Amino acid sequence: MHQVEEDTDAAGGERDTATESSPYDSLWFDDGNIILSTDIHLYRVHKIVLAEHSAVFRDMFQMPSGDANEDVPTVRMAGDSDEEIKVLLLTLYNSKFKQALQDTRAHALSSVLSISSKYNFHVIRTHVLRCLDSLFPTSLEGFLSSRIHELELKNSPKLLFELLAAAHKFEIISIQPVLYYLCARFPLEAIIHLIPTLPIDCMKNLLLGRDWLCALSQHIVEQSLPSYRSGGSPLPISVRVCGVASCMETFRTLVARQFRCGLWRFFFVLDLDERGILRGINLRENGICEGCAANYLSQLDAMKEYAWSRLPQKFCHKLWEQIRLECR
Ligand SMILES: [Zn+2]
Repeated sequence: MHQVEEDTDAAGGERDTATESSPYDSLWFDDGNIILSTDIHLYRVHKIVLAEHSAVFRDMFQMPSGDANEDVPTVRMAGDSDEEIKVLLLTLYNSKFKQALQDTRAHALSSVLSISSKYNFHVIRTHVLRCLDSLFPTSLEGFLSSRIHELELKNSPKLLFELLAAAHKFEIISIQPVLYYLCARFPLEAIIHLIPTLPIDCMKNLLLGRDWLCALSQHIVEQSLPSYRSGGSPLPISVRVCGVASCMETFRTLVARQFRCGLWRFFFVLDLDERGILRGINLRENGICEGCAANYLSQLDAMKEYAWSRLPQKFCHKLWEQIRLECR
């Protein structure tokens, strides 16, 4: 079933691969009774530690191994990357691994997620999922206050795409809407480069969802200007009329200045500052009337809520309610 091959035949030709790998110092215990081998490193660890955390390893160790005389059997971790095995073992042998997973090693999350899912390291997987849920939550309030905004991870397309692929592979739906959003807001150049790493369904979801976000971006610009609207907008937003010329003019200037074409051609709604184009702007000095400012800010909130409420439909073809229910 799993892709572990236990190689207890010391004379076997397959050992060649293992001998090219070198021991990884901090995970080479002299009293270890099993060696895990990747194409890069050898890890001499303890069966009891692996068995305690993983049902797959527990079952494997219960099976009689070929050669009882073998000192320390070597298990070739076929199909697993060295990085995955290393991160998993470092986590297992870290007495504070729960804390470690919370820390800045967010870049290791997709490796730990993949490998702990594959070999059913239940406790580790549960903790990884908890970390991921707090980084990629299912509520707008949770998202706006998530630590993801402080982490480098947020601006690392490669890591986010890896996580998205892993979330798909292991069917972790709860984190997908936010992950899709975060992946979709990168410039197209970055997306083109990384999109082949995703499964085909995932590619389609990402591109179609991004298209929707780009359309929303146009609405954001339109809605930033106080003007009269006769209705007909699909969005739950109404714009009041302002009769003060300086107010209208300032809004136009701010829009032109802040929404100018540059590296980022679109404005991704959930990335906008909570004061939007009014950030750092003194209303009185700029001749913006209180009514228009309040109206603009409430529209901005409404736009974010609107986008958030449709995020899972647009990217995952599900409602938030369904997703929360499935994750229980
Ligand atoms: Zn006004």
